[in-house]
Amino acid sequence: MSARRPLVAGNWKMHKTGVEAREHVARLRALLGDGELPAEVAVCPPFTALEAAARAASGSPIGVLAQAVHEAASGAHTGEVSAPMIVATGAEGVLVGHSERRAAGETDAQVAARVRAALDAGLQVIVCVGESLAQREAGETEPWLAAQVRAALTEVRADEVGALAIAYEPIWAIGTGRTATPEIAQQAAAHVRAVAGERLDPGVLRILYGGSVTPDNAGELMAQPDIDGALVGGASLDPDGFAAIVRAAS
Ligand code: PEP
Repeated sequence: MSARRPLVAGNWKMHKTGVEAREHVARLRALLGDGELPAEVAVCPPFTALEAAARAASGSPIGVLAQAVHEAASGAHTGEVSAPMIVATGAEGVLVGHSERRAAGETDAQVAARVRAALDAGLQVIVCVGESLAQREAGETEPWLAAQVRAALTEVRADEVGALAIAYEPIWAIGTGRTATPEIAQQAAAHVRAVAGERLDPGVLRILYGGSVTPDNAGELMAQPDIDGALVGGASLDPDGFAAIVRAAS
């Protein structure tokens, strides 16, 4: 049996105000109940709703993560938010390197620096990696993933493995309804684990799958030996559906 507890995180992207976040978390709390859950659970609201979500989740098994972070602790970076600011909201972690951020210009070097800044502030980190359709069709998936993983982990120490998870999110599967097959997801997750294993204990590191996860496909994806949970976008906006995905974790 795996020692890795599954993690199911919901990335709300640019959805929900503070009031809506509070209502959503309250509903999710009720749906998940007080009993033992098959997975660790987290939601990732926009910055403006972090504090409301963290308050609503207080004392529950629901963790709250931000969706992005800047590498500097403070300074002249208009529109950015630092790791200490995220900590001050009551949130416990952050996504780094989501493909929507990378498409907007976030570089591998920034991802590495942001992972470091988040860990230094005591935040949990989910680093996202994934290939485009063109890269997959050109047979470039494995070297691309290896390069992204190695770059993201440049400044991570071996003893920080418990504070970090990697989400394998093929770009062609995000928000498209075109979920990776369990075989494709497993193969990529195994590769990510092997490469990350150059720095971090591969038996402890959690690898998530993300890309059009739904209550219908979550169980089979999370049952793969190298997939330790899910990063869920669109389907996490519905508390009932998200709770069903949490319950599908093996
Ligand atoms: C995501 O945003 O990380 C994601 C996986 O989105 P979706 O589930 O909507 O494909």
